[in-house]
Amino acid sequence: MYKYKLDIIIMIIFVLFILGGCSDQRLEIKPKAESGVIDLTQVQLKNDVVSLDGQWEFFLNQLLASGEAETGALTEYIQIPSSWNKYIGNKEHSGYGFATYRLQFITMENTRLALKIPRMFTAYELWVNGELIATAGKVGKTRETMTPQYLPQVALFESQQGVNEILIQASNFYHRSGGMLESINLGGEKKILGLRYESLAREFILFGSLMCIGAYHLALFFFRKKNKASLYFGLFCLLVGIRTLLVGERFFIYLFSDFSWEIAHKIQTLTFYFGVPLILMFFMSVYPQYFHARMIRIAQIFGAAFGLLVLITPARIFTPFNPIYQIWTVFAIIYVLVALMKLSIHKEKGSWFITLGALALLLSSANDVIFSNIWMNDDGPAFLKALIRTGNLSSAGQFIFAFTNSLLLAKSFSDSLKQEEVLTAKLTEINCNLDELVLQRTKDLENSNEKIEQQKLELEKTNLALEQLSFKDPLTGLWNRRKYDQTIEIEWHRCLRYKRPIALILLDIDYFKEFNDSYGHMAGDKCLIKIGEMLKNSLSRSSDMVARYGGEEFIVLLPDSGKEEAIKVADMLWLKIESMNIPHEKSSVNNYVTMSIGVTSTVPDSNSSYEVLFKVADRALYQAKNAGRNQVNFLSK
Ligand code: GH3
Ligand code: MG
Ligand code: MG
Repeated sequence: MYKYKLDIIIMIIFVLFILGGCSDQRLEIKPKAESGVIDLTQVQLKNDVVSLDGQWEFFLNQLLASGEAETGALTEYIQIPSSWNKYIGNKEHSGYGFATYRLQFITMENTRLALKIPRMFTAYELWVNGELIATAGKVGKTRETMTPQYLPQVALFESQQGVNEILIQASNFYHRSGGMLESINLGGEKKILGLRYESLAREFILFGSLMCIGAYHLALFFFRKKNKASLYFGLFCLLVGIRTLLVGERFFIYLFSDFSWEIAHKIQTLTFYFGVPLILMFFMSVYPQYFHARMIRIAQIFGAAFGLLVLITPARIFTPFNPIYQIWTVFAIIYVLVALMKLSIHKEKGSWFITLGALALLLSSANDVIFSNIWMNDDGPAFLKALIRTGNLSSAGQFIFAFTNSLLLAKSFSDSLKQEEVLTAKLTEINCNLDELVLQRTKDLENSNEKIEQQKLELEKTNLALEQLSFKDPLTGLWNRRKYDQTIEIEWHRCLRYKRPIALILLDIDYFKEFNDSYGHMAGDKCLIKIGEMLKNSLSRSSDMVARYGGEEFIVLLPDSGKEEAIKVADMLWLKIESMNIPHEKSSVNNYVTMSIGVTSTVPDSNSSYEVLFKVADRALYQAKNAGRNQVNFLSK
């Protein structure tokens, strides 16, 4: 509630402003007319304003000129303000007819006075002391001869000390009510004009404000068609704004005094008839869960039906139906009040505000409806008559309503703007962070890319090592047979291309099975390792290779080596094994480990192959074994 503080203050100021304008400016002492005479000797007329209420002389069906009243047939004293309806034939009757009113007032002053004359139903001529000082429309004894017009105005005259006479001729064949339904005020020229100006100023402010608010809301709707509430509200404000100039002081008629009473009356009635469904539609669109669609539908149908009636029939036909619509309006007001109560109980957002504005609207409308009802004019309860003295509060109420709703709208607008700002700030923050985030992510990615690159390198290394490993014999650390197969192919083709010789040496340990048998497998392994090491160390050229070909068989590949060189190497190896002197007691050739060696060499040509070369070396070894082992044997083919 605290955040509404400012709004409440603005509201109170406005309510005071509006109500201040409506305050009763009449005298403390209220003289009443009795039997057609009002004694104003106790009143300082120059500086005061007095309502000429009470008993006026009433001459029904007579249009008397000044001075003729004494000779006229007085019907009775009529209570002013009221319609003459029930006085015609002393029973309920239509308001049609014509009559003369007369009031004498006694004053001690000889001064310039003014009368504030309200609208009269529906034409009049007003004389003071025999002088015609105000007219509205044209008074006539028949419908054809009269012209109706509502024209509230101020009329000036010089009062004379003693008895003064106010004489009013009035006729009505156009409205269901006839006569003086509102009070005539008498007072000093300045005072009366002041009242008139105040009312006019208030009405202009209302008119201007309502037109602005209305146009603004229509513009809102124009730019955001979803916003139906703005449409209904804007239309409502425009209707009420137009109505403001057609009721009360009726400035519009003052400007265009020839404007058709019928049309003005139609417009004024239509603003009322269309206002009711519009306001219900507005509430429905703002708080749909609190209003029944059927009720809105009924309001629309009623509004349309009565509106049509107003449009196609003259005032004398449609005005008698007005009370029906007034009853319906009171019902609608109660309906809305109940809905607003529910709304306030549920503490809907902004309900406090809407309720306040709507209360102003509904109560002032109720005031006006009751005021303009025939029943009220004729014999309404005294307390209601005391309470409801003026019939144009609804413009002010409508204005308060419009104002509170505009405030609410402005608030919800600024709220949503605020929300948007917060969202934008959040988004900006996220965007900023996004840059950072993207930067960070990119960095991370780069890092992991680097890592992957490194890992890839390492993997390649490992792969290479693994590959190497797969070419190595795990026991001796020499190349294995796979590596030999790969290398011989390459070397063979190289030597073929360059027509270079190539040699192979196959070495097989003699009686190695027996070695294992006598010294154990472990010792056998050690022996294999030793011999392998020796073989590796004995070869000097980088292109030479030694591999473990099988269990206890080794192979030496010598590219670019001919027979001589191959035999030289084989002999050198044979000698080295002998010099290693690894004991082998079970050997049938010696008491140390010996080897049989097959050697071959050739210059590759397209007819031969390295497989053949190997077979020759193998055969050479076989021959060496057969020839008693522990020897080198060369075979060329
Ligand atoms: P020969 O003089 O005819 O070559 O007779 P040998 O016993 O050396 O030949 P044979 O082919 O009959 O036996 C080869 C033996 O080599 C059989 C096996 O016990 C031994 N051997 C093969 N590989 C390994 C190995 O990796 N470690 C050990 N300790 N012994 C092996
Ligand atoms: Mg063997
Ligand atoms: Mg052997």
